[in-house]
Amino acid sequence: MSTGTDPQRMEKIVSLCKRRGFIFQSSEIYGGLNGLWDYGPLGVELKRNLKNYWWQVTVHERDDVVGMDGSILTHPAVLKASGHVEGFSDPMIDCRTCKAHLRADQLVEKKGVQQCANCGGKDLTAPRQFNLMFETQVGATADESSIAYLRPETAQSIFVQFKNILEISRKKLPFGIAQIGKAFRNEINPRNFTFRSREFEQMELEYFCRPEQGMELLEYWKEERLKFYENVGILRSKLHVLTVPDDERAFYSKGTYDIEYDFPFGRQELEGVAYRTDYDLSQHQKASGKSFEYFDEETKQRFVPHVVEPSAGVDRAVLALICEAYSEDQAPDEKGRMETRIVLRFQPRIAPIKCGVFPLLKNNPQLVAKAKEIVQLLRAQMTVFYDESGAIGRRYRRQDEIGTPFGVTVDFETLGEKDPALCDTVTLRDRDSMKQERVAIQDLPAILRERLA
Ligand code: ATP
Repeated sequence: MSTGTDPQRMEKIVSLCKRRGFIFQSSEIYGGLNGLWDYGPLGVELKRNLKNYWWQVTVHERDDVVGMDGSILTHPAVLKASGHVEGFSDPMIDCRTCKAHLRADQLVEKKGVQQCANCGGKDLTAPRQFNLMFETQVGATADESSIAYLRPETAQSIFVQFKNILEISRKKLPFGIAQIGKAFRNEINPRNFTFRSREFEQMELEYFCRPEQGMELLEYWKEERLKFYENVGILRSKLHVLTVPDDERAFYSKGTYDIEYDFPFGRQELEGVAYRTDYDLSQHQKASGKSFEYFDEETKQRFVPHVVEPSAGVDRAVLALICEAYSEDQAPDEKGRMETRIVLRFQPRIAPIKCGVFPLLKNNPQLVAKAKEIVQLLRAQMTVFYDESGAIGRRYRRQDEIGTPFGVTVDFETLGEKDPALCDTVTLRDRDSMKQERVAIQDLPAILRERLA
């Protein structure tokens, strides 16, 4: 479903991402591969900050969740049992006019007639099922027995390892297993920048519970996930919860929410939160012949646990963070004339660089030495960027554009040349308000730590 769109804003965001090294097209020098992206120096920091924060709140801050990291290449039996080999497909239609392959739900309807979204052509094939999994061969012989798949979601390795992890972690229900990792889908139409890619990362939690806890935990995790997005800087008013209607939900799910975000290209899914009942564990129990039952010592009951799954896309969340942060305002240039300033207003905790450090002049060895001392002082605790080139206003703008929340400038007052009382103090500039305050160098780490928390 889509709401208002703003293609111009999206174009500016895509161009900034490339210009400043957040995201590049994969294999660009060879013409690129559709639906694949490489994260540059700033993109990788942003992505890591997001993943680390997810891991922190989902695993480290909880007693009831443990982590795992499963393999990407997956045994076909796993994906047969899960239903992916049979059913993980999208209906595909070809346009006979422009030869485009289209997902059936991406056709445009005009006056009741379906048309190609690419060329407007009406000569379309009937829909046929297209399996989205990437198949590969493991080992030297290429035959049926060597087939493996690149996993289409991280969840299945969690289900398959459920028993091992239950035994070694000695957890009692309800408890969860979390994983962050790559997933692959041969999407028919990758589009909207990184939103729909063929290789992407997921942050998934499988939270196992008793059957009677499922519906309540579905609500609980929906709320937790909304809080998460707010804590990384997404406005609550831009997040929407869609209750997936009965006829669109997977047949085994008793309730599914999509958490959506107002992207510049419309309202789209960021994350799914689904109560999947005992479907996955039961399927693997049936197919493998191994018991996936849980023994409840209190009630002396044996049963296959149910599961609630919050499943988030890292790349979609990164894109949402960039879209949310992008803003333009007016700020004075060196000569006091107002100019348009591009600012990424990232929540400080996820900003790729936390603090810029600038000596006022690059040809003054004392200013430079002091600035480098500050870099050393801060580097152990946060990402720092040292910049000595160009007018100070330009340097601020460069950091604003990549979302660095703080800037520290070393000037002649730092050296005690103007007022001995100001010796070893610096100006600390705030990205959003552009306000500057004078602080002692020794207080900097504590002040910044507090503001980054
Ligand atoms: P969609 O309907 O948009 O194809 P989905 O409902 O198939 O998504 P899930 O299978 O629920 O997606 O996957 C969980 C999450 O993984 C999604 O909410 C999304 O954030 C992410 N994801 C899924 N497919 C892609 C993709 N092709 N590119 C980037 N992220 C994806």
